[in-house]
Amino acid sequence: DAPVALTVPDADRMRELGRRLAALLRPGDLVLLTGELGAGKTTLTRGIGEGLGVRGDVTSPTFVIARVHPSLAGGPPLVHVDAYRLAGGLDEMEDLDLDVALPESVVVVEWGEGRVEELSEERLHVVIHRGASAEDDTRHVSLTGVGDRWHEAGLEQLA
Ligand code: ADP
Ligand code: MG
Repeated sequence: DAPVALTVPDADRMRELGRRLAALLRPGDLVLLTGELGAGKTTLTRGIGEGLGVRGDVTSPTFVIARVHPSLAGGPPLVHVDAYRLAGGLDEMEDLDLDVALPESVVVVEWGEGRVEELSEERLHVVIHRGASAEDDTRHVSLTGVGDRWHEAGLEQLA
């Protein structure tokens, strides 16, 4: 599918984007976040967690690879993964049983590109780029759905 591209002026708006994206997400969805350190991957995930109505602060999972946030709103849990240290890809994460969790969860993976793609043929790639200057809070976000699931997901509503 053609990417949906948007400009996000500040961190609050990034969280808002996460909340709006969450409204489009369903159990079984895999979201892969790409962007340098400080791009806003965790900030976006925090908004997704707010939108899903999950328990627990969504923070950088620095010392854990994955954190499960159960839903308080009767929706799917959020499984938040930081794959940064996983050089070996999915086999290194076998113990997490992400494949078992995925059908009933929303799985959001920071640094997931090239590491966990094989978890699902249908996934949403979100790429975050910083603006031109270091002082600029602007982020450029592009969302690309892979697979039939995303044709009717309504991603274009986010632009
Ligand atoms: P990552 O997980 O990609 O390393 P974080 O979300 O942890 O990034 O950190 C992003 C930092 O940048 C936060 O301190 C956030 O407040 C700040 N920030 C400033 N502008 C934005 C923006 N437009 N979108 C997201 N974060 C922003
Ligand atoms: Mg992060």
